[in-house]
Amino acid sequence: MKKCSCGGELVQGFIPDFGSLAAWATIWVPGHPSLAKSFLERMKQGGGVSVDKDEALALEAHRCSQCGQVQLYANAPVMVGTSPAS
Ligand SMILES: [Zn+2]
Repeated sequence: MKKCSCGGELVQGFIPDFGSLAAWATIWVPGHPSLAKSFLERMKQGGGVSVDKDEALALEAHRCSQCGQVQLYANAPVMVGTSPAS
């Protein structure tokens, strides 16, 4: 169990990424967001920004049960629940 700088225990969670029809787990991708350019890319991702899944990592959000601080970690490969295609 990870610890907060205050000494409290960090609780793992995630930050939902709300699409038009469902909620998805947020991922970390390097660089800056840019809009999907092609129609096919927009359809596959449900619109929004372009995402290179090969470079993406699952984003874990750990919340301190004592002070409420949230720390984000991106160390694991992308798993299910990040998009309609995964
Ligand atoms: Zn804390």
